[in-house]
Amino acid sequence: MIKIPFNKPYITGTEITYVQEAIVSGKLSGDGSFTKKCHQFFEQKYGFTKVLLTTSCTDALELAAILLNIKDGDEVIMPSYTFVSTANAFVLRGAKIIFADSLLNHPNIDVSKVESLITQKTIAIVPVHYGGVACEMDELIAIANKYNLFVIEDAAQAIDSFYKGKPLGSFGHLAAFSFHDTKNIICGEGGMLVVNDAQFVKRAEIVREKGTNRSAFFRGEVDKYGWVDMGSSFLLSDILAAFLWGQLLEMEVIQTKRKKLWHIYYEKLSKISTRIIIPQLNTNQTNNAHAFYIICKNLDERNSLIAYLKDKGIAAVFHYVSLHKSVFYADIHGNNPLPACEKFSDCLLRLPLFADLNENCVNEVCQAIIDFYQ
Ligand SMILES: *Cc1c(COP(=O)(O)O)cnc(C)c1O
Repeated sequence: MIKIPFNKPYITGTEITYVQEAIVSGKLSGDGSFTKKCHQFFEQKYGFTKVLLTTSCTDALELAAILLNIKDGDEVIMPSYTFVSTANAFVLRGAKIIFADSLLNHPNIDVSKVESLITQKTIAIVPVHYGGVACEMDELIAIANKYNLFVIEDAAQAIDSFYKGKPLGSFGHLAAFSFHDTKNIICGEGGMLVVNDAQFVKRAEIVREKGTNRSAFFRGEVDKYGWVDMGSSFLLSDILAAFLWGQLLEMEVIQTKRKKLWHIYYEKLSKISTRIIIPQLNTNQTNNAHAFYIICKNLDERNSLIAYLKDKGIAAVFHYVSLHKSVFYADIHGNNPLPACEKFSDCLLRLPLFADLNENCVNEVCQAIIDFYQ
């Protein structure tokens, strides 16, 4: 029986009040007052040019791919060690995904490997800030600028995290965040598109509103609205935006709790750092405590550890299976091994981490891991 789950959605207690307010207001669809509050919160706190809540991060990525006019045969570079949505968003528009390897010591894209992957067909690079820890953005942006490429940040896990003091999500032309209930700040299912390049602002609103200029109409900028572009239905219900609003007001509390637990893991597991690798950050990066993971020696060792922990009622889980070796993409990717990525697929193990996880439980998990290795 599982005593310590891997994740449990953290509820601040205020969500229900705001959800009720949204229901009573009679505005249940998207872009109601709570959506506007959330947009303002992000634009003010992080200085993002334009924020649009979406139904998910997956949808925010799909919206981004539409905005870039990705078409058949275009190439998009991204890490193989990521969630399927990062790739699907571009595959849906006909792109070929060019997978890059991870860094040796971190699942993030190895920026030094990117330049050699660029061809005449390359349109965009999609860095994924794994565990909310920043990719090497200065170098990545320099490469993108040199070849005139777009940068879309998959910042699904990267809320309230920074690179050289600047918030993640503010580097790319576009960025996508997630509020899925496995993330730090949640509303069940939800996401947001951040538009940093002003040229995309107007069209982002249109594509998100089924290809209509309805947003401009509601602001009184046009006297009727109609079908002006391709698009889809990407608006988050205001009921969920109300839930999200409850979370945003407690963001500091949530982040503080998560960071405290993260540091207990870090301290305790440092003692066996000759047996396992634990996350290390450099001075350019911050920790938003999205995830705490360890790197085991090999797949067998990780599987034994998972079983050992499960036996003690602790749920620890592995993460991405390399996309370049997936059933769907292995043939297209071809025979080009990405050894760092494959190592993380085999050896990375995520430990329970959620805001109201008891500190004693964290100690218990650490002790179990230490026992396993002794
Ligand atoms: C969670 C996640 C997504 C997808 O987010 P949804 O909101 O569930 O669509 C995409 N990319 C990464 C890296 C993620 O961690």
